[in-house]
Amino acid sequence: MHPKKERTFVAVKPDGVQRSLIGEIIGRFEKVGLKLVGMKMVVVDQEHIEKHYTLDPEWRRITGEKTIASYKAKGLVPWTEDPFEVTDRVLKNLISFMTSGPVVAMVWEGAHAVKLVRKLVGGTEPLTSDVGTIRGDFVLDSYAMSDGDNRSIRNLVHASGSVEDSAKEIDLWFKKDEMINYKLVQEAILYDVNIDGILE
Ligand code: GDP
Ligand code: MG
Repeated sequence: MHPKKERTFVAVKPDGVQRSLIGEIIGRFEKVGLKLVGMKMVVVDQEHIEKHYTLDPEWRRITGEKTIASYKAKGLVPWTEDPFEVTDRVLKNLISFMTSGPVVAMVWEGAHAVKLVRKLVGGTEPLTSDVGTIRGDFVLDSYAMSDGDNRSIRNLVHASGSVEDSAKEIDLWFKKDEMINYKLVQEAILYDVNIDGILE
């Protein structure tokens, strides 16, 4: 498969929709040269979100361990040392957040789509994600605040973490006929080896 065919799953979370940032977020992926091949606005249920986050069988353990480590790094004592118990709480909050309103689910295609979208989206916690990224530029949430209020962090966007995850996530959110194979005119200048024919 040519690298230009890589696909990634992206969702504008309910806070992104409520903040009127759908266009801004889509614009960032468009401007970098990626191609939108699937898009729909949906309200999803608890089961769907649980499936989404547990597609990676390691996600429960990794998220729990990461959360415990971040508590300790802040000098806080986690309420349990069991990563799976920690993730149960994280997941419960994610479910109530992600089912609270419409989300915009999308599939983006192009060279290095997964890595490129993660770079544009920024780190998970908006307070510490880089300036210039979507999470760094458009929202102010922190783990200190969201954990203190026992709710999910509001970070506007979900984006697949790996090519392997993206395939599973696309499969969960989209039927084959909901995605469109088509050419974008700009792909010629992004990918074509022979670019004769521009000058008249
Ligand atoms: P993402 O890929 O950057 O969205 O982050 P992850 O896949 O690692 O985590 C998914 C979601 O789990 C995040 O958007 C958070 O809501 C939650 N989460 C992940 N890590 C932590 C953490 O260390 N603490 C807390 N409270 N929530 C977390
Ligand atoms: Mg993730």
